[in-house]
Amino acid sequence: MDKERNVWLMTQQRMENAMDTLGLKPGIKKYLREPRKTIEVSVRVQMDDGEIDVFKGYRVQHNSDRGPAKGGLRFSPTVTLDDVKALAMLMSLKTAVVDIPFGGAKGGITVNPKELSVRELEALSRQYILELSPNIGIDTDIPAPDVGTNPQIMAWMTDAYSIQKGHFVPGIVTGKPLEVGGSQVRDEATSVGVVSTIISALKHMDMDDIEPRVAVQGFGNAGFHCARILHDMGFRIVAVSDTGGAIYNPEGINPKKARAHKLKSRSVCEFPKCRPIDPRELLEVDCDILIPAALENQIDEDNAPDIKARIIAEAANAPVTPEADKILDQRNIMVIPDLLCNAGGVTVSYFEWLQNRQSYYWSYREVSSKLKKIMERAFSEVYVMSQKRKVNMRNAASILAVKRVADAVSLKTTRSRCYL
Ligand code: NAD
Repeated sequence: MDKERNVWLMTQQRMENAMDTLGLKPGIKKYLREPRKTIEVSVRVQMDDGEIDVFKGYRVQHNSDRGPAKGGLRFSPTVTLDDVKALAMLMSLKTAVVDIPFGGAKGGITVNPKELSVRELEALSRQYILELSPNIGIDTDIPAPDVGTNPQIMAWMTDAYSIQKGHFVPGIVTGKPLEVGGSQVRDEATSVGVVSTIISALKHMDMDDIEPRVAVQGFGNAGFHCARILHDMGFRIVAVSDTGGAIYNPEGINPKKARAHKLKSRSVCEFPKCRPIDPRELLEVDCDILIPAALENQIDEDNAPDIKARIIAEAANAPVTPEADKILDQRNIMVIPDLLCNAGGVTVSYFEWLQNRQSYYWSYREVSSKLKKIMERAFSEVYVMSQKRKVNMRNAASILAVKRVADAVSLKTTRSRCYL
């Protein structure tokens, strides 16, 4: 079984477990097990050498019963339909955990964007959104950036869609640059959300009177901003890593200086006054909070017994395997699950869409305060569910989310609520 297939099966299994716990009726289970709509497109682009090339593109809308489908677009040479289906299903659950009125979707093109010229990338992005245009819309399905896409690509897509409609439609995608209808806080939204869940977890674990030591795996958008915000709040960042290597300093690392060093030398390793360590060792360093902010499947049954942190905050999607989850549970380590922990990004996407619809834009302070309120409420609801059901935070988040989606399906279809 290849890895992509595994991700889809693992995600389906997660959904299945939550549906079983809730005792959902067979028809609702059947409906939620598969996406509502799957679109495959052939995207035609004239390359710089004058030849035509064709790229495979996907958009999967898993569910739209709580609101328009919402989710990012991934440009990657390894992206498959199974990947996109899994990520779309996770988006339905993520939007439900933070209780924003969206369903779940995801899209992708099998392409290595680094191998395209800027002109080719622009042509591909514009053509892809035009191919999708009969199936997306501000009330139907709203794409956003994901791996391999960025605000510039969102600006091209907004423009192509708007030209086709004959008027500016900023709400068609989120994650746009500020100049074309983007929102304040969008850049660091995921990390602001991650930090909010960490603060809530520290309170629940009676750890709010210590000076927490933090290790961060991955120093990109999510990892850097988490380290920066926590450092500014007085937390001690003891280890960080990127694809170039990992560094450790028990006295603390200044994330902004480490970032400046990375921009000059392409990696955080060799940052002064730090000891280089093996990247896998980063996960096991002596710290209170571990933030995996890079890839999936980083904490497995091999290293879970050696983790020292008492809280793991999943900034990345699926960094902990199901086998590792069991070990971490037995060791009383709190895992703040991805569905909750990194939902700040889609929450600010929701704010961006709201601002676009109203043509009225909020200040940085307004956006971050609304975001924190939603994240605090979501953490508390997941925590209460975990206590009520006597399950870990991951299962609690899945149960809460699936119940919200299933209730919406059930009320619309049969006029009856699914009872807990
Ligand atoms: P990014 O590309 O900006 O950064 C990824 C970082 O991880 C880079 O610093 C890279 O060097 C590092 N990295 C890659 N492989 C590594 C390895 N084996 N060991 C250590 N470091 C490694 O990506 P991002 O946007 O920060 O996303 C990171 C994770 O967070 C992904 O799982 C993504 O799905 C998730 N996430 C991000 C957002 C967001 O808004 N950025 C939202 C939700 C979830």
